[in-house]
Amino acid sequence: MSTLVTGIAELVTNDPEAGEGPLGTLAGAALVVSGDHVVWVGAARDAPDADTRVDVGGRAVLPGFVDSHAHLVFAGDRAAEFEARMSGTPYDGGGIATTVAATRAATDDELRGHLRALVEEMRGQGTTTVEVKSGYGLDVEQEARALRLAREVTEETTFLGAHVVPPEYAGRTGEYVALVTGPMLAACAPHARWIDVFCEPASAHAFDGDAARAVLSAGRDAGLGLRVHANQLSAGPGVQLAVELGAASADHCTHLTDDDVDALASGTTVATLLPGVEFATRSPYPDARRLLEAGVTVALATDCNPGSCYTSSMPFCIALAVREMGMTPAEAVWAATAGGAAALDRGDVGRLGVGARADLTVHDAPSYRPLAYRPGVPLARALAI
Ligand SMILES: [Zn+2]
Repeated sequence: MSTLVTGIAELVTNDPEAGEGPLGTLAGAALVVSGDHVVWVGAARDAPDADTRVDVGGRAVLPGFVDSHAHLVFAGDRAAEFEARMSGTPYDGGGIATTVAATRAATDDELRGHLRALVEEMRGQGTTTVEVKSGYGLDVEQEARALRLAREVTEETTFLGAHVVPPEYAGRTGEYVALVTGPMLAACAPHARWIDVFCEPASAHAFDGDAARAVLSAGRDAGLGLRVHANQLSAGPGVQLAVELGAASADHCTHLTDDDVDALASGTTVATLLPGVEFATRSPYPDARRLLEAGVTVALATDCNPGSCYTSSMPFCIALAVREMGMTPAEAVWAATAGGAAALDRGDVGRLGVGARADLTVHDAPSYRPLAYRPGVPLARALAI
C-alpha cells in the first residue's frame, strides 16, 4: 500500500544535497510513502503513481520533531511550585520528591493514561519520536514499572534511577548509587535503551562527578547507551564526563566553560539544549551561538516534566531558541529534527529522504519559518497517513 503526499509548498528534507540550503528544502514537492517508510521524494510534477493520495493543500512538510529528552511517566503536578518560583523561590531540583511520592502512589493505568495523553499532545504539535525517562520511582520495582510503561509508547526509553537521591536515602548517596548500579540497573536494563544521570554538584539532591561516572560506567557495562543531565545549574563535571565516556548526548549545557565547549567540539556527543527549562525556571539561557560556532552538534528538546518545564511543545522550544539563544529559524528546525535524531543515534528519523521513516509533520503555512515567527500558534501537527 503506497501513498502519494502532494500539495507540499515546501518540503524540509534535512539533506542539503536534495534541496536548497542547510535544510535541503524543495518547493512544489511530493513524496511517496510505502508501509512505514519514504520510497520517493522529488518535484510534484515528476511524482509517480501510488495507491492513494493525500493533498496537504499548499502547506510545508517537515520531518516529525524528535524530542530526545522528556520525563513523561509521572502523576500529579507542581503548579504551586511554579507559582512560588515565579514569586522568587529558586529552582534546585528538590521538588522532584513531590512527584516521586505521587508517582509511587499511582496505579499502572493512571500512569499509562497520563503518559499516552502526553504522547498524543506531542503528536498534535508535530512530535513523532519521543524519548521517555524513568526517574520518579527511585526504587527497584517502581523504576522497572516506569520503563515497562514507557516501552509501550516508544523504543527510546531511558533508565534514570539516578535522577535524585530519594528521601529515604537522604545523606546516604553512596548506598543509593550502589542500589542504582546494582539491583535497580539489573531490573531496568531489559526495558531501557539508555541510562542517564542528573550530574549536578550544585544541587543537594543530585549526583557529583564520581557518582555520575559510577552510574554511567555500570550502564555501559549493561549494554545501555549513555546520556547525561549536565551543567544545568553550574559549570560542573557533567559535560566533560559525557564526552569522555562517549555519551550520545549531554543535556542542558546551560553553564559551560571554554574547556566544556572544546570537549563537545572535539567529540561525538550532541549538546541538547532545553530552553523551556530556562523559560520556566526564569534562568539564563544556554549560548547556542557559541556552540554552533565551535562546530558542536546541537539538538533541541522539551524536557517535558512536571517540575522545571511542563511544556510538550517543540514549536515553543524552536521559538525560544530563535528569540533567546541566537539560533536562526533554520538552525532551530534542524536541531529539533535532525539534531534530536543525532542525540538518539538514529539515522531513520529527523530527515525525509528515501529509506527514512514516514514521520511527517505538516505545518499550516507555506514555509517552516512561522514556527518561530508565530510563537504559541498551533500550526504544526503530525500527519497521519
Ligand atoms: Zn530532564
